[in-house]
Amino acid sequence: MKLTILGCYAATPRTLTNPTSQVLEIKNRLFLIDCGEGTQVQLRKNKIKFSKINHIFISHLHGDHLYGLIGTISTFSLLGRTTDLHIYGPKGIKELILLQLKLTESWTTYNLFFHELESKESEVIFEDNRVIVKTIPLKHRVYTNGYLFQEKPGERKLNVEAAQHYNIHTAYYQKIKNGGNVKLDDGTVIENEKLSFDPIPAMSYAFCSDTVYNEDVIPIIENADILYHESTFLESEAPLAQKTLHSTAKEAARIALKANVKHLVLGHYSTRYDGIERFKEEAEEIFPNVILGDDGLSFEF
Ligand SMILES: [Zn+2]
Ligand SMILES: [Zn+2]
Repeated sequence: MKLTILGCYAATPRTLTNPTSQVLEIKNRLFLIDCGEGTQVQLRKNKIKFSKINHIFISHLHGDHLYGLIGTISTFSLLGRTTDLHIYGPKGIKELILLQLKLTESWTTYNLFFHELESKESEVIFEDNRVIVKTIPLKHRVYTNGYLFQEKPGERKLNVEAAQHYNIHTAYYQKIKNGGNVKLDDGTVIENEKLSFDPIPAMSYAFCSDTVYNEDVIPIIENADILYHESTFLESEAPLAQKTLHSTAKEAARIALKANVKHLVLGHYSTRYDGIERFKEEAEEIFPNVILGDDGLSFEF
């Protein structure tokens, strides 16, 4: 799993910082998460192939998470895209995009599928043989969802030496990888644990975009490997966070701690501060494994 942060600052794009957008590479699928202004440029700067993005997840209809979407959709067409594109986001996103296409007399060279969300409960919105994506209902000024991306557990790893030791025919190897036992010609059953190793652990990534401190998310994101949680403000602006339905770095850390995640990535910093180091310091007073998100930062986990 690889996460690339294209932008992680609040509100307005600036010379050196960008509003929210991320790319998650998970089991060979490339998911774009939020699409603030400048996302296309950031994709190019980070050498991410446009053609590999087939799914876009939008958390909510605020400009700093959305205003890059129509441009991105349009560019995909100019590049001659023919592959289907799926967009997941709050109800209204379809109307918003189609109106812009209509008034600009534009169209797409590919099929555009909208998956509009309105549930207040967590729901599965994408699933294939390797990945599952669920919504994380958040509390913000407009209807907002975070997204939980989970890998499905892979096959068990064949213990070739053990299989050869028992003279097991290769025709049984897939059965072993699937977790099955093997019966030898003399009737002896060899338990799967003797013939295989545990699969690589399935990883999960929870993205919580804009939200006030909300413990309701904890059961959904519990034990996630990585949690990105917005931390718009420092503790000195805690009342403002409450008022504008955003979080402080400490609140993000409290959620990380209570949900028992392995790492916390901070972002969505208000541009009122001179630097972002202080966000990490404040969060670390509560939770130890804090990563200071920043534009262009990419890491594998
Ligand atoms: Zn925002
Ligand atoms: Zn917002």
